[in-house]
Amino acid sequence: MSSVLYYALPALGSYAVLSIFFLRRPRLLHTPGVPAFRPRLGAHRGGSGERLENTMEAMENAMAQRSDLLELDCQLTRDGVVVVSHDENLSRQSGVNKDVGSLDFEELPLYKEELEVYFSPGHFARGSDRHMVRLEDVFQRFPRMPVSVEVKEENEKLIHKIASLVRHFDRNDITIWASEKSSIMKKCKAANPEMPLSFTRCRVIRLLLLYYLGLLPFVPIPERFLLCFLPTIINRTYFPFSCSGLNKLTAMVTKWLIMRKSLIQHLEQRGVQALGSLCSPWAAPRVGPLPLAPAMVRISKPKTFQAYLDDCHRRYSCAHCRAHLANHDDLISKSFQGSQGRAYLFNSVVNVGCGPAEERVLLTGLHAVADIHCENCKTTLGWKYEQAFESSQKYKEGKYIIELNHMIKDNGWD
Ligand SMILES: [Zn+2]
Repeated sequence: MSSVLYYALPALGSYAVLSIFFLRRPRLLHTPGVPAFRPRLGAHRGGSGERLENTMEAMENAMAQRSDLLELDCQLTRDGVVVVSHDENLSRQSGVNKDVGSLDFEELPLYKEELEVYFSPGHFARGSDRHMVRLEDVFQRFPRMPVSVEVKEENEKLIHKIASLVRHFDRNDITIWASEKSSIMKKCKAANPEMPLSFTRCRVIRLLLLYYLGLLPFVPIPERFLLCFLPTIINRTYFPFSCSGLNKLTAMVTKWLIMRKSLIQHLEQRGVQALGSLCSPWAAPRVGPLPLAPAMVRISKPKTFQAYLDDCHRRYSCAHCRAHLANHDDLISKSFQGSQGRAYLFNSVVNVGCGPAEERVLLTGLHAVADIHCENCKTTLGWKYEQAFESSQKYKEGKYIIELNHMIKDNGWD
C-alpha cells in the first residue's frame, strides 16, 4: 500500500501542476481560432422581452437597443418553409393547437396579442406585429447580423434548408448552430461544417467533467460558443422548477459549477465565447427608458465594465452581469425597502448610470430621486436620492439605493 502511495502521490501531484499550468496557458498547446464576431448583447427569441417573440418588430427593436446577436429557433412548415418559431406546436404562442409542420406558411396563425416572457414569469410582451417570419426574411433584413439558429427537432430537411440558406446568404461565419441534443448537432455540422458550433447539453456536462478532472487543457474543443442561462438568474427571474427549494439548490449548484473564472478564461483563450442568457427584471411602470429585455451578455470579459473595485475588499456586484457595484465598506444601511423587496443604502457606487430626477413620495416622505441602472446590462437597480425635503432625511442625499435582488456578494465573503 505504502509503495503505491509512494509512486501515485508524486504522479498525481505532477499531473495537477501540469494541468493547472496548461489551464492558464492553453495557447502553448492549442491555436485558438479568431472569432468572426464578439457579441455583447444578444436578443433572446429575437428580442422577446419587449415585443412579441421572434417577430420582425421584436428584432428591429432589439437592433435599436444595439443588440449584436439574434437568438432564434427554427421550424419547418408543411410546404418546406423555414420559419422562426420557438415551439413546434402553436398553442402557447398562437392559441391554435396545431404543429408548424402541419400547416403551409400562408396558413400560419398570428401570435397572441401578448406573450408571457420566458425568463420573467408574470410579465407579458406586446407588439403590433404578430406575424411569424421566415428565416430567409431575417437574413435578408439583417445581412451582417450574427444569428444563433437553434434546431430543436431531429428534422433533416429543416437542417439542410437552414444550411443552404446560410450558404446562399453568404453568412457561414456569422451564423451559429445551436441545439440541446448532440444527435441533432451532428447532423447540423454535417450539413454545413463551416458554421460555428455551440455546446449541446451533453457536451457541456462533458466539458465540466473534463475541467474538474483537470483534463480540459489537453482535449480539443471544436465548439466556438457556450450558450447557457446565466446561472445567477436562476431563482431570481428564472424559475425552472415549481419548488422554491429546488430552484435555490439549482441556482447554487449551477453557479458553483459553471461560474468559474479559470474555466471561462481558459475557454476564452481558446477562442470559445461564453454567453449567458439573462433577463432584466421589469422596471416599475414609472421608469423612463425600457430596460433591455431578455438578453445574453458575456459572462467573462471583465473589460466591459467601466470601473473595478479592489479585489481585496468584500463587494457587491450586479446579479445579472457581475459588473462591480459597491464595496461593503460603502454600505450605510441594510434596512431599506425597494419597489420589489429589501434594499441597501450605499455611500457610493460604480458602473451605475442615472436617469432624470423626479419627485416621489416614498415611505419616508417627499424626495427627489433618480432611477439608477447597471451601465453594463442596463438593468434598473434602484435609485439615487437627489434631494430630501425633510431635515431628518437629509442624510440620504447623494446616496444610492440598490435592491437586494439585483446584487450578489461577490468577493471575499467566505
Ligand atoms: Zn448588470
